[in-house]
Amino acid sequence: MPAEKIDTLVVGGGQAGIAMSEHLGNNHVPHLVLERHRIAERWRSERWDSLVANGPAWHDRFPTMEFSNIDPDAFAPKEAVADYFEDYAQMIKAPVRCGVEVMEVQRNIGRPGFRVETSEGLIEANRVIAATGAFQRPIIPALVPETEEIKQIHSNAYRNPGQLPEGAVLVVGAGSSGAQIADELLRSGKTVYLSVGPHDLPPRRYRGRDFVWWLGVLGKWEAAALEPGTEHITIAVSGAHGGHTVDFRQLAAQGMTLVGRTESFKEGVLSFAPDLAENIAQGNANTLSVLDQADAYIIRNGLDFPEEPEARHIRPDPQCVTDPMLELKLTEAGITSIVWATGFKLDYSWLKVDAFDDEGRPDHQRGVSTEPGIYFLGLPWQSRRGSSFIWGVWHDAKYLADQIAIQRQYLTYTTTPG
Ligand SMILES: Cc1cc2nc3c(=O)[nH]c(=O)nc-3n(C[C@H](O)[C@H](O)[C@H](O)COP(=O)(O)OP(=O)(O)OC[C@H]3O[C@@H](n4cnc5c(N)ncnc54)[C@H](O)[C@@H]3O)c2cc1C
Repeated sequence: MPAEKIDTLVVGGGQAGIAMSEHLGNNHVPHLVLERHRIAERWRSERWDSLVANGPAWHDRFPTMEFSNIDPDAFAPKEAVADYFEDYAQMIKAPVRCGVEVMEVQRNIGRPGFRVETSEGLIEANRVIAATGAFQRPIIPALVPETEEIKQIHSNAYRNPGQLPEGAVLVVGAGSSGAQIADELLRSGKTVYLSVGPHDLPPRRYRGRDFVWWLGVLGKWEAAALEPGTEHITIAVSGAHGGHTVDFRQLAAQGMTLVGRTESFKEGVLSFAPDLAENIAQGNANTLSVLDQADAYIIRNGLDFPEEPEARHIRPDPQCVTDPMLELKLTEAGITSIVWATGFKLDYSWLKVDAFDDEGRPDHQRGVSTEPGIYFLGLPWQSRRGSSFIWGVWHDAKYLADQIAIQRQYLTYTTTPG
């Protein structure tokens, strides 16, 4: 059977693929989006039942369509987020083909374009955009061996407390996922241990504005790179229960045992780094620095926002912080499950092209790769801090569509004889 031909092939029908389709359409670029499951599948089947968006509905969306039936200041439940992208794809008439997996992409030899093997046959494409996101493969550190006594899952497989066996649970990782899952497990009546690493801890709201607004006006979502000397660290925020500032001290007061970064495991004993107090203190320092910058912004712009001094009150360190547990005998503590909220890594094993550096990371500038005709979308820090978030990817897609239109323009040029 002859291969189907398409100018630009987008792999992945999540928010990145849908945004890409909109901008390619606006630039009159013939294209096709291939999605192996359903549109925005990860929001439907790879996140826990009670998850809501971390940002309010007015913010965590594409600029050209609002959420229907959700208050702009509320936090959209995960199914509503997936529905939003389905509706969006319909609105822009995105050419999405669901249920088709891209198995392999290779460059053609001696002629332009790429040979794309899919679960439904061969496609020839002039360009390929990898829009498979930043959250492809769950990372579970190889620490605790698989045994029948302890159920170990990654946060992407966690659904609800009822899924875990009776007994105590250790949640490893205190970014947005770990903090929210640990909170939910504690509310369900479980005994919970939470391993807390370095994290940013923006206030949910301050002086009448959500933190997403503050990070916006302070230019932090638009930051093109990390501040020199800093490492990317996870951000602990929550839209659950109407949205509240994550407060590890409060969780400890409610009975959760906080421990430091999980380091090693030997003969049934998990060891934690002695960094808990420092991690908690740095999270609070991050909160205070956002408050300081917000106050300075209010003064500079002469804004009449209500004062909120109580936002600076920090509870005293709980006992689990002042006298931290450095070792935990899992069976003695009654731990029957571990939830690893330890993040994700990229997986482009299907993309057999020259677009990666020596360590296998995408080699690109703002998503335009070193292999002509190959583009990436949805990478963390692709162009700015906001790149892997809903609204950020839309702007990166716009840039890529523009770059593709420029390349197509060159190819329309022909010399005039004489
Ligand atoms: C727990 C969690 C909560 C989040 N909450 C928010 C939030 O509140 N606000 C926010 O802005 N961001 C949030 N994010 C970040 C980000 O918005 C989401 O991760 C989002 O799903 C990323 O969209 P994407 O399109 O880049 O990737 P994905 O949603 O991962 O979409 C990629 C798609 O590609 C498909 N695919 C992969 N490989 C192939 C292949 N070979 N062939 C065909 N199809 C393929 C997959 O099935 C998938 O549907 C959250 C992330 C996580 C993990």
